[in-house]
Amino acid sequence: MANLVSIILQWPDLNIREIAENFSRLACNAHTICDSELIPLGTGLYPVISIINHSCYPNSVLVFEGRMATIRAIQQIPKGSEVLISYIETAGSTMTRQKALKEQYFFTCSCPRCIKLGQDDDIKESAVLEGYRCKNHTCDGFLLRDTEIKGFRCHQCGLVRGMEEILKIAGEEKDMSEKASVALSSGYNTEALDMYLKVEKLQMKLYHSSSIKLMRTRETLLRV
Ligand SMILES: [Zn+2]
Ligand SMILES: [Zn+2]
Repeated sequence: MANLVSIILQWPDLNIREIAENFSRLACNAHTICDSELIPLGTGLYPVISIINHSCYPNSVLVFEGRMATIRAIQQIPKGSEVLISYIETAGSTMTRQKALKEQYFFTCSCPRCIKLGQDDDIKESAVLEGYRCKNHTCDGFLLRDTEIKGFRCHQCGLVRGMEEILKIAGEEKDMSEKASVALSSGYNTEALDMYLKVEKLQMKLYHSSSIKLMRTRETLLRV
C-alpha cells in the first residue's frame, strides 16, 4: 500500500518507510465511524480515544454523532477504575475474540472473560454462540464434540447428532448464503429476501437458537 501511495503521488521527498509506519499506526489505532444503526461510514483517527484499552467485558462504549466520537459508560464505573471499550464485536467465543484481537491489534487479551478460556462457563458460552443445536427441537441444550461417536452430544438430554448430517446441512447453508449474498449485493432484493429466509431455516436446523450466525442472518433479513 505504501508503494502504491508513493507511485500515485510521485513526491520526491516521500519516504516509503514513513508511509508504511503511518499505515501501521492507522491499522492499530483507527476506529470505524458508524451511524446510529451501526452501519460503517468510514474510518477516523482519534488520538485521545486511541489511548483507551480494550476489554471483552467493557464498561464503556464508543458511539458517534456524525464525526464526533463519544465514550459512554454502559455500567457503573467506580472511581479510579479504568475506562475500557471493546475493539471488536463482543458477541463471539473466547477463541474467536482472541483470534480477532491478535490478527488486528497484536495482543492477547486477559480480560475477565478471556481468562476463563477452557473453563466450563466458557465452553458453554462458545457452544451456544457458535455451536450446533440439539436434534430434539424442544431441547435448548448445547452440543459438545464427542470424538468416540464422531459427532456431537447434547449436554442436556444426551442425544447425539452425527457428523454426516451436520455436514450436509452446513453445505446447503453455505451454498445458499453465498447465493443470497451475491443477490443482495447485485440489488436483487426480492430474490435475496427469499434466499435469506431459506438460510435462516437451514441455520435454525443447524445452530443453537442463540447462535451468532442466526442473529446475523436475522439482522440482514431486517435490513433487506
Ligand atoms: Zn478479552
Ligand atoms: Zn438435547
